[in-house]
Amino acid sequence: MTIYISLPSRQFVSDRASGKCEYCLIHQDFSIYSHEVDHAVAIKHGGSSNTNNLVLSCLPCNRYKGSDLTSIDPINREITSLFNPRSYKWGDHFKIEGSYIVGLTDIGRTTIFLLKLNEPKRLMIRQALILQKIYP
Ligand SMILES: [Zn+2]
Repeated sequence: MTIYISLPSRQFVSDRASGKCEYCLIHQDFSIYSHEVDHAVAIKHGGSSNTNNLVLSCLPCNRYKGSDLTSIDPINREITSLFNPRSYKWGDHFKIEGSYIVGLTDIGRTTIFLLKLNEPKRLMIRQALILQKIYP
């Protein structure tokens, strides 16, 4: 289903995120595909298209997240909320070690797991960007 989001809203969301995916922090200038404006809470779960529910997301993060709000924490096996960039601060749930994104909380770990933030090709891309000092 295609949800209409106005051009000014899309621009606002992109500017607010400084052009970076709000999950993996890759800048859209260094991404093969354009970043997308996505609903943190999907319309089907009652989310709105107001900018306070919109997130700038790279294509892989958006595809892996889909409309999900939770997944299973890989450590404690509990159903756990995903990171919502509108509700939480990135640095409270994640940190970067080398090219890895490390989860600091159950929310961080669960989001890394579901969005496959450390899959090998994403690590390779981040490593190349880090060497050029353009990540994060
Ligand atoms: Zn991303």
